[in-house]
Amino acid sequence: MKILVLNAGSSSQKSCLYEITGETLPEEPLKPIWEGKVDWSHEQGFAEIEVKTAKGEKLQEKIPTDSRPRIIAHMLDMMCNGSTQVISQPSEIDVVGHRVVHGGQEYRESVVITEDVKKAIARLASLAPTHNPANLEGIKAIEKHWGSLTQVAVFDTAFHSHLPDAAAIYPGPYEWVEQGIRRYGFHGISHQYCSHRAARILGRDLASLRLITCHLGNGCSLAAVKNGRSIDTTMGFTPLDGLMMGSRSGAVDPGILIHLLRQPDYSVDKLDYVLNHASGLHGISGISNDMRQIREAILQGNSRAQLALDIYVHRLQFYIGGMLASLGGLDALVFTAGVGENAPEIRAAASEAFGFLGLKIDHEKNTHKPVDVDIATPDSTVRVLVIHTEEDWEIACECWRLLKQSD
Ligand code: ADP
Repeated sequence: MKILVLNAGSSSQKSCLYEITGETLPEEPLKPIWEGKVDWSHEQGFAEIEVKTAKGEKLQEKIPTDSRPRIIAHMLDMMCNGSTQVISQPSEIDVVGHRVVHGGQEYRESVVITEDVKKAIARLASLAPTHNPANLEGIKAIEKHWGSLTQVAVFDTAFHSHLPDAAAIYPGPYEWVEQGIRRYGFHGISHQYCSHRAARILGRDLASLRLITCHLGNGCSLAAVKNGRSIDTTMGFTPLDGLMMGSRSGAVDPGILIHLLRQPDYSVDKLDYVLNHASGLHGISGISNDMRQIREAILQGNSRAQLALDIYVHRLQFYIGGMLASLGGLDALVFTAGVGENAPEIRAAASEAFGFLGLKIDHEKNTHKPVDVDIATPDSTVRVLVIHTEEDWEIACECWRLLKQSD
């Protein structure tokens, strides 16, 4: 089965083509046979394209457009023609899987895209104003050029859609519940992938495991996973809740927002900008949203960078404690995404707070670029895993499962 995965960012588009042969899903994630990344955030009106194939072909291009439909059409053309060709025509693709950020309360599983699904994605754009419209553009672009291809929506919220009410409902007025103001949670595809992968690495049945998965990238979230399902998570109604992030604040006292909005020169748009782009590591350090630069600045003796790191770690420990209480115990703590996979000092600092439980990491293993391994000491009471997240592969697997079910 040939599966094209489209993963849309606000000014970026990733596309991967996977080929899964055989009657069962492979134990290890496959590498895509074709991979394209496009970014149009650097120069207005221009898209930078980078394509590579499993056979080692690489191509970089710049095209004069920032229209997502045109970019997707161009990428498919590069898949079917020229030096990066891997198929003869798009009709060889069996299914196109889209990462769709918000599925609301209606979509708890991946679905084949119909007119009703498209309408729901459009309606839910009020909850994900940057992402859902971009996802819809991708769906429509495929439809316009290759109308007959089956398309599947894989929702980032779906993995968290079974949160118990006590974890999902905010203690505001009850009307909020009726208005759909509740905790949805995000990064679900990554948390789901890491949960499956953790079970495989540990050689255990996922249904018997209590996990805390820490997705620490530019955006950061935790999930408490029990019996293979998320039962608590730190992101909420929007991806602003919870942990301190690269440039997002995470949870802050809502009274601060009221206080700021009462200032004469303040506006909702300014508050939106401040909380999403001028807070977090960037806001506190005044240097960068990138943990590597924070680390550099600390080595140079920068005290605001040190403060940013200290808050980041404090918040991480605080929320791991919360997830631990929701789970009532812990078999494995999992670190993933840019920071989680590459910052040993963050893993060590976060883990240290739970030493009293008997959780111990092996510092040698922790600092030797671990990928998909257990870095806990043999006598640790809790396993600690570092997992390279593979969201696109998880989307491909969801498409495969859905199509095989309907066979
Ligand atoms: P996104 O959340 O946008 O998908 P990633 O998961 O790739 O992004 O995470 C990007 C972040 O990971 C960077 O901003 C940086 O803070 C962090 N990061 C990447 N590499 C390293 C590294 N070697 N050491 C520490 N942090 C890193």
